[in-house]
Amino acid sequence: MDKIKIKDLEVYCNHGVYKEENVLGQKFLVSATLYTDTRLAGITDDLTKSINYGTICHKITQFLKEHTYQLIETAAEQLARFLLLEVKNLEKISIEIKKPWAPVGLPINTVSVEIERKWHTAFIALGSNMGDKEGYISQAIERLEEQEDCEVVKRSDLIVTAPYGVTEQDEFLNGCLELRTLRYPLELLKLLNTIEKEANRERKIHWGPRTLDLDIIFYDDLVMDSEKLTIPHVDMKNRDFVLQPLTQIAAHKRHPIFGKTVAEMLRELKEQ
Ligand code: ATP
Ligand code: CA
Ligand code: CA
Repeated sequence: MDKIKIKDLEVYCNHGVYKEENVLGQKFLVSATLYTDTRLAGITDDLTKSINYGTICHKITQFLKEHTYQLIETAAEQLARFLLLEVKNLEKISIEIKKPWAPVGLPINTVSVEIERKWHTAFIALGSNMGDKEGYISQAIERLEEQEDCEVVKRSDLIVTAPYGVTEQDEFLNGCLELRTLRYPLELLKLLNTIEKEANRERKIHWGPRTLDLDIIFYDDLVMDSEKLTIPHVDMKNRDFVLQPLTQIAAHKRHPIFGKTVAEMLRELKEQ
């Protein structure tokens, strides 16, 4: 992706662990790389098609002066979040905050923290087979949309499906959605679990009846295995009720391990 770079913007502000630092303040140097597509601006010579680096410099200065953090880790984290939420077409940002006057008590040029943060794309499967199924699902979508660090980009139609695994239970309503999010995978799972709990989800029998089930199917092209989270969802390729709605919104999305698109996986499942 194209980059717009800001180097060593000087900001006088009050971040630090020591009281004196919070009161007296000191000099910080901020560098930022803004990842955005500049192609259209490059062709049209129109500033409104790009990101105005002057505006960004002022936003950075204002943000760092208005807040006081102990750690430059936190200052960088919160500044990156603020800019990703605030600036249109900013997909990813790298921020370095240097503290040339850090009270180390030794001759030192500078200390700094550098982080990279970005918008991620996750696909979420939604399911319900108890009570007001449609109500639980729309409530879940609403709750996701309420989060400032989540944006529902696309949603499939809801389909009625036969129960999977434990078959002696009510039929399901299933759907999928595409989510743009700043949350890390485990943070996203935590949010999904909270929304499930709000829908009075109880975990009694695995694959048993539930008011609401929210699973992460894909998260960018991430492959991860941990006790709490496996991405891509381990059983997705065997599930018609996931692949069918997913095909509606992401037919060409390719599975990072199997190398097949969602549409191909659905076709193969149907052929079996
Ligand atoms: P299945 O995961 O086969 O669809 P389920 O959704 O009925 O079954 P749950 O009881 O909802 O199972 O979840 C069991 C655990 O699965 C969760 O506590 C969660 O930690 C874990 N898990 C692992 N990978 C994922 C994922 N990709 N999305 C959601 N939960 C996951
Ligand atoms: Ca599930
Ligand atoms: Ca689940």
